[in-house]
Amino acid sequence: MQLKNKVAIITGAASGIGKEIAIEFAREGAKVCIADLALDAATATANEINATGGVAMGVAMNVTDEAQVDQGVADTIAQFGGVDILISNAGIQIISPIVDFKFEDWKRMLAIHMDGAFLTTRACMRAMVKAGNGGTILYMGSVHSHEASPLKSAYVAAKHGLLGLAKVVAKEGAKDKIRANVICPGFVRTPLVDKQIPEQAKSLGISEADVIKNVMLKETVDGEFTTVQDVAELAIFLAAFPSNALTGQSITVSHGWHMQ
Ligand code: NAD
Repeated sequence: MQLKNKVAIITGAASGIGKEIAIEFAREGAKVCIADLALDAATATANEINATGGVAMGVAMNVTDEAQVDQGVADTIAQFGGVDILISNAGIQIISPIVDFKFEDWKRMLAIHMDGAFLTTRACMRAMVKAGNGGTILYMGSVHSHEASPLKSAYVAAKHGLLGLAKVVAKEGAKDKIRANVICPGFVRTPLVDKQIPEQAKSLGISEADVIKNVMLKETVDGEFTTVQDVAELAIFLAAFPSNALTGQSITVSHGWHMQ
């Protein structure tokens, strides 16, 4: 049990990567808060974890809403006694050439990825500093924190931005033993990716099979998708790391797509 009695808040944890991290953190002994847009979806995931012997709660949290973020973090602390780990994971994808990109879509993308990361970081850092027990903040970046792809201008910009935020948190947090790192997955088959396969096929004028083989997995070493379990393994490693030696970094988990 590498995370025994640690309290973790995971945003976007009712689906995909965040959900798997929540399940595996609970298996490692963490108490997990499932923070997602809809309370029923967050509670359903928490119930699944509680039914298998874990400890979880659900909160309704739109990460772009300052009051909801502050309330969700306060509710978690009231129920579980503190917060040790934040996984800022909630995210969306919007595929469009820049010339057709709607300004509202650009702002929505930056709000969820950047405002969400800032608001959850601020609320958790305030609590971590006050409690004096240190903490870990992990951002769900992407290979797109380091690489660009066509049709993903806002996503690539937002994912690059998380690297900068993590580095500042690492510097400001060090004196309070708060570490910050960025996880950078390659393509993972979640609802976020399943939605964009037909969208990319249409925009690029190729088949869905070609999107998978020649766009998504082209640069991997073995043509394989990264899995939610792969990402959760890395999250456990980073959350359990015992010192400030590993902070302000990004780690890519992608079957070799983008070697640093
Ligand atoms: P997903 O669609 O399965 O899950 C995303 C979750 O975020 C959903 O439960 C959704 O309700 C929630 N969410 C969306 N907007 C929110 C908001 N404003 N407030 C709170 N919650 C919100 O997607 P996923 O693939 O699991 O993606 C999770 C994260 O991983 C994202 O940040 C994504 O960019 C990143 N990522 C995904 C991949 C991939 O290939 N799937 C690769 C690299 C990075």
